[in-house]
Amino acid sequence: MPVVPLLHIPHPPQSLMNAAILSIGDELTLGQCVDTNASWLAAEFAATGLITIEHRTVADDREAIARAVRELASGVSVLVLTGGLGPTEDDLTRFGLADALDPGSELVVDPEAVAQLARWFDKRSQPMPRSNDVQTRRPPSTRMIPNPHGTAPGLAGQLDQCRIFALPGPPREMMPMFRNHVRPALADLGKGVTLITEKINSFGVGESLAAERLGELLARDRETMVGITAGGSIVTARVRFRGAGDQARDEVQRVARRIEDLWKPYAFGRGEETLSEVIGTLLRDRGKTFATAESCTGGWLGKLIVDVPGASDYYRGGWVTYTNEMKSACLGLSSELFDEGGPGAVSEMAARTMAEGAIRQSGAAYSLAITGIAGPDGGTSNKPVGTVYIGLGRPGGEQINTVVRRFEFSGDRLAVRHRSALTALQMLRFELLGVTERVSMLWETPIMTETPGS
Ligand code: ATP
Ligand code: MG
Repeated sequence: MPVVPLLHIPHPPQSLMNAAILSIGDELTLGQCVDTNASWLAAEFAATGLITIEHRTVADDREAIARAVRELASGVSVLVLTGGLGPTEDDLTRFGLADALDPGSELVVDPEAVAQLARWFDKRSQPMPRSNDVQTRRPPSTRMIPNPHGTAPGLAGQLDQCRIFALPGPPREMMPMFRNHVRPALADLGKGVTLITEKINSFGVGESLAAERLGELLARDRETMVGITAGGSIVTARVRFRGAGDQARDEVQRVARRIEDLWKPYAFGRGEETLSEVIGTLLRDRGKTFATAESCTGGWLGKLIVDVPGASDYYRGGWVTYTNEMKSACLGLSSELFDEGGPGAVSEMAARTMAEGAIRQSGAAYSLAITGIAGPDGGTSNKPVGTVYIGLGRPGGEQINTVVRRFEFSGDRLAVRHRSALTALQMLRFELLGVTERVSMLWETPIMTETPGS
């Protein structure tokens, strides 16, 4: 087992620059509404140099709100609450906040809020419902934040060292209130300090091996923090540094380059850059074209390629040959291949012939061919579900020089097909970069002598 240094090492004591987010609402705790406010707020905090160290979600419950406010406020310099400021019985945020900030006292009426709410209903020529009365009240030590987009004003207060803001739940009310009133109120906190982050993406290497390669870069007590996440089959390193402007930027770039080096040749891009964008750049730079021949991916590979604007510069097009007949008619696979006792449609020979057929028919320099068993049915003992052969056709003098690799991808039908398409792109990337040594890839299995049947 690789030893991956994660957790258990204390977080650096930087509470002066830390934030927490408290989301309030039964609809959130019951899972009926996804908490997009919290991720949006955390990104906003990051942009101002604040690190969010805790997200908490509580139901519309006065005691739970008060408790959460007290607990979170004791460890951070900024706490933002969202939700529960509405006019209905279940909107209890202002009461919970009062219990935490001004225990034992009653809410007070805010004359400015009364005037604003009156104007809101006036403008709409509606009488103000009695239930909205409560929105003119605030805990005595707080002040109100105007809400031009709704009836619920926000609240700003303080508990010991922590600045607290309660914002409405609806994102279209919460976001402008944060930008116009909360962010300016935090300007002094992040002074001279910026938070710089960078993402390095890799494909074809497992998460634990990727972590092992980074070694001590992953230690949690470093100034420049590196974390690893895996999602959609892509393993990503996130570099984070908090410090003075230029120094922070340089340091992050230095660490990012080091990670790319340690993850060679699997690291393919930074930030949101995709494998197909990278392939596009490589092909365009070299003035080369390519084509695709797909079976089990059903055009997914072609889709990924044309997701990139300008793909017509290097992508000739492709075939989705799902049946044996189409494989023969379009790409020239001989019918004997599919005969009883032949290698079958999911085989090294099929992938090779598809890749070569695609080059012959399109005149492209390179081709990628994918044939496999995406499942859930159709697997055999020799070729279980997830077995996929990927052919890379490439120029080789008079001949086409094709390599085929065999994989047993894990996951469901969707994952097998997605991993197939990404693996094909990575194989082409290795080729275009001239990666000469044989690089092992995640899920790869040796090609045995072809056995009859698919
Ligand atoms: P108002 O009642 O004036 O609309 P409020 O502050 O009481 O504002 P809530 O009643 O808690 O807000 O939430 C209103 C709606 O806002 C929810 O039904 C949901 O659609 C959305 N919402 C609330 N919290 C979140 C959240 N954390 N993330 C995304 N959407 C949210
Ligand atoms: Mg609510």
